[in-house]
Amino acid sequence: MRGNASTSRALNRRLILNLLRSRGPISRAEMAHITGLSPAAVTFVTAELMEEALVVERETVSGTSGGRRPVPVDINYEAHLALGFKLNRYNIECVLTDLATSPLATAESSVADTTPEGMIETIAATIPRLLSQANRQESEIRGIGVSIPGEIDPASGICLQSPRFGWKNLPFAEMLAERVHVPVWIDDDVNAFAVAQKLFGVGRDHPNFAALAIGAGIGCSLVIKGEIHHGSHCAAGKIGHVTSVPNGRLCECGRRGCLMAHAAEPYMLDEWKNRTGSATSRAEFAASVEHGEDMALSILSDCGSRIGRHLADMVNLFDPEIIVVGGEAVEFGDALLAPIRRTMEEFAFFTKPELVPDWVPSSWARGAAALATQNIFDFERSPSG
Ligand SMILES: [Zn+2]
Repeated sequence: MRGNASTSRALNRRLILNLLRSRGPISRAEMAHITGLSPAAVTFVTAELMEEALVVERETVSGTSGGRRPVPVDINYEAHLALGFKLNRYNIECVLTDLATSPLATAESSVADTTPEGMIETIAATIPRLLSQANRQESEIRGIGVSIPGEIDPASGICLQSPRFGWKNLPFAEMLAERVHVPVWIDDDVNAFAVAQKLFGVGRDHPNFAALAIGAGIGCSLVIKGEIHHGSHCAAGKIGHVTSVPNGRLCECGRRGCLMAHAAEPYMLDEWKNRTGSATSRAEFAASVEHGEDMALSILSDCGSRIGRHLADMVNLFDPEIIVVGGEAVEFGDALLAPIRRTMEEFAFFTKPELVPDWVPSSWARGAAALATQNIFDFERSPSG
């Protein structure tokens, strides 16, 4: 890294922004004390960030002892917007958020086909809808994040492959940025969920954690020392494609016996059909779980045990402090999570990290929005567009 003045200024900015993100509002004196920066440097960086409306001074809490209290400085979360889009087979989950990824407007747009052009036009058409829903302006948008199931290179903005959509080596970030004229960041959907957790979830207290997601597929992103571990080919964390049943069911990746082909939601519904002889919708299956029906619980127990068995291997390899769990299947609660936890603990060799569900229906799209807000906290990332 070049040691020039602009680099050190950028480093100081990142230091201060991330301190405020993790600690909440604090005074300039506290910032200097915690970071070791000089009071002059803190004042300089803070002034610069205030000019860009990235930080604001909050109300001073008056104490009983009298005298002037130092003014707390905070990130100006409300003043800027991010957009998040999570691409699915039949729809796009869309959210407009502030910089803390708190949702201001949400929408679900159906997609007729999964061509990149179709997805891009749907996204472009949804943006004005979200803005008007929240009564905000296009000029307030700092960036767009898009999460795509597959192998994604976030640095180049290229979707290396997405078997679910049949995409290969697609410069999706650049294509969307050209269409909407806003900086675009992309990543795998589970990594995007992990980025949101890293910035505003378990990551605030745990620099090393795993983010497990179970829904249409299964993935487990790894955050190591506060950074997403993408691996050398952007294919790390693909626990859904470890072979669980040799020569088993066909997976969407084209191989056989992958964990997700034997434990993700499509498998649960297929298994229900196999065991009962009649097809069921996801909602009906969820209702059966809710009512504690034996067949549904038995399917979840099998899936959970299978996932936990492989999760234990991940724990042995990476020793995360905690595992946060997201994805639609979190809705099944302990009927799924308890067998995961039990089996993971049974097969883990040394540490048995806590398994913590953290999921609301907007979490996928908020994760995508976090890909854009992350940029503000990390100057090294550059957008497409
Ligand atoms: Zn697979």
